[in-house]
Amino acid sequence: MSVLATLLDLVLPRTCSGCRAHGAGLCPSCGALLDGPALGLVRPRPCPPGLPPLSALLEYGGPVQRLLLAHKERGRLQLTAPLGRALATAVQVHGRDPVVLCPVPSSPKAVRQRGHDHAMRLARASAAALRSQGVDAVAAKLLLPARQIADQSGLSTVARAANLHGALRATGVPRGRVVIVDDVVTTGATLVEAARALTASGHLVVGASVVAATARLPRSP
Ligand SMILES: [Zn+2]
Repeated sequence: MSVLATLLDLVLPRTCSGCRAHGAGLCPSCGALLDGPALGLVRPRPCPPGLPPLSALLEYGGPVQRLLLAHKERGRLQLTAPLGRALATAVQVHGRDPVVLCPVPSSPKAVRQRGHDHAMRLARASAAALRSQGVDAVAAKLLLPARQIADQSGLSTVARAANLHGALRATGVPRGRVVIVDDVVTTGATLVEAARALTASGHLVVGASVVAATARLPRSP
């Protein structure tokens, strides 16, 4: 693709970010995938101790993987609303009571490099989708990085948990049920640390929800 074509595609995508079909940023087939039913509750294997009940819409891979990466890394913000609806479907696995959606924070460096805070965007879009379905939902940035985190890649689940302990701190006044939200879950170690920080500050964490969970996550019985 020429530089001009690449730039044009960024401004006005002419192919689906999920499957490259000609048309728009999201084709009807990939849109239907995001509007489908949730997998339900899932568990990483091994499941890290302290992981709150976790729900996911889809298994990570294929079109949903490409859509999430296009949104996070390439700033395809027209995907925020459909991905937010997808996340809202996963959140409702935890019930339809009033809920505060708290995104997993990215490091300030990652937010700077990407030019946006993808998880906060998804949390806001998801809360809006829930409200449109009659659920009292708000998004709130209750978690902040407490320190720099060493590179997680290549670490075992146990080593990741040790690396992450104390990495996040919670803020805000506790005000009801909290569901931690993110785009993807792999080992669950970050969600464990998020739940620990929130609970230590008096927040009531009822679960965590993601758009997609990696294939190592079989359904809960
Ligand atoms: Zn598509």
